[in-house]
Amino acid sequence: MFENQKIECTLPAQKSIALIAHDNKKAELIEWCLENKSVLEHHFLCGTGTTARMVADTTGLPVRGYNSGPLGGDQQIGARIVDGRIDVVIFFSDPLTAQPHDPDVKALLRIAQVYDIPIANNRATADFIIKSPLMEKPYTRYLLNFRKNIEDRAESLR
Ligand code: PGA
Repeated sequence: MFENQKIECTLPAQKSIALIAHDNKKAELIEWCLENKSVLEHHFLCGTGTTARMVADTTGLPVRGYNSGPLGGDQQIGARIVDGRIDVVIFFSDPLTAQPHDPDVKALLRIAQVYDIPIANNRATADFIIKSPLMEKPYTRYLLNFRKNIEDRAESLR
């Protein structure tokens, strides 16, 4: 029963890390990336448009940029989590400023939770993640078997 409902999914040793910072947090994320450059350079980096550009310019690390957050960048990152192409999210969000794309931000947090990937919303969590020995090792998590879930739902709702 359990085997049918869950599937094993492994995050690789070399991880795809998405970097996102709201405007008031960009300087802090850039500082954090500089501080952790020696770890970050072992992984693949991507991020929302402006954040990716600023991190790449300051650190010299290659960072693949998606659209800017308010223009759908958070949703692009969410979709890549679903596709198993992003393994960790470092998201310095601003809790004190209203964001026009708040629903997208919530959707990203939710999908990271559904797919059980590490996601940091603040610097302390980002520090704990980046210093974890699991950053350099494969990590297996157990996800809902989505195909089976669809089959069961289609059957039970007929
Ligand atoms: P940005 O988007 O990196 O393009 O500024 C971040 C966000 O606000 O979600």
